[in-house]
Amino acid sequence: MGDDLDIVRAARVSTGKGSKGLAADKKLLHYLYKNHHMSPFEMVEIKFHIRVPLFVERQIDRHRTFSTNRESGRYKYLAHDVYFPPVLRGEGTINRQGSGDPLSNEASEDIRGTWRRLVTDVKDAYWFFQHRGLSREQARVITPLAQMSESYWKGNLRNLFHFLELRLHESAQEEIRDFAQAVADIIKALVPLSYECFVKYTLDADVVDAEEKEFLLGMLDYYHKSVEGEVAFPLMNRVRNRWKTKGDN
Ligand SMILES: Cc1cc2nc3c(=O)[nH]c(=O)nc-3n(C[C@H](O)[C@H](O)[C@H](O)COP(=O)(O)OP(=O)(O)OC[C@H]3O[C@@H](n4cnc5c(N)ncnc54)[C@H](O)[C@@H]3O)c2cc1C
Repeated sequence: MGDDLDIVRAARVSTGKGSKGLAADKKLLHYLYKNHHMSPFEMVEIKFHIRVPLFVERQIDRHRTFSTNRESGRYKYLAHDVYFPPVLRGEGTINRQGSGDPLSNEASEDIRGTWRRLVTDVKDAYWFFQHRGLSREQARVITPLAQMSESYWKGNLRNLFHFLELRLHESAQEEIRDFAQAVADIIKALVPLSYECFVKYTLDADVVDAEEKEFLLGMLDYYHKSVEGEVAFPLMNRVRNRWKTKGDN
């Protein structure tokens, strides 16, 4: 529900101006996003119909501002639909909780064999339990984290951008990054101007801490004195002036 213009209209509610044309609307969106005036971005809500493995669903569920409705193994027998990773990855060396390079073919084949056997055992047990009269709500307890699960998942653009910031990041698990990329592609198509702001001020941007800022400001001062900075590097001056006047942009 909503598009880039709904954000513009919300931001201009006091003046009742609505759209002022593409260039002015785009400028306003950039101003809002860059200066953290994020409530207008809450005017756009997007609902997704998703199917992901339980281990990805658990990570998605950590984002508390979304509304969810989900299929339940208490109401119906769960279909035997489990996720097999296309590539098996070894332990990571850079990010301690992440994974790294693909495993050798030999190791991958061994693991795949065991993986398939276990999943088939669980599937057989699930049907056997039902055959023996066990309730659905108890039989489902043995389903693995690889089990696929279907939901409706709805959130506003502000929180979706926050979700993407965290889950497109290279420190996030590859499987949820793939999910986040699919979400990002949809958002980009629905609200291209807002997505452009997200990329410019969040995805491709970075936070500089106080120490780093002081260091960079020192370098900017040095270059400013040594060259005709005003003329040669207008961007350098913009950053320098903004940091000198602390956040006033
Ligand atoms: C790479 C990665 C690794 C992670 N590893 C772990 C892990 O090992 N263990 C683990 O438990 N979690 C882990 N998490 C989950 C993480 O700690 C957060 O719970 C999750 O990313 C949601 O972030 P959030 O709270 O900012 O966002 P959301 O829950 O989507 O909330 C959005 C924003 O709303 C506000 N908000 C929401 N609820 C509250 C509240 N109750 N009080 C105050 N403000 C609120 C905050 O401003 C918050 O940023 C990991 C996440 C990532 C991305």
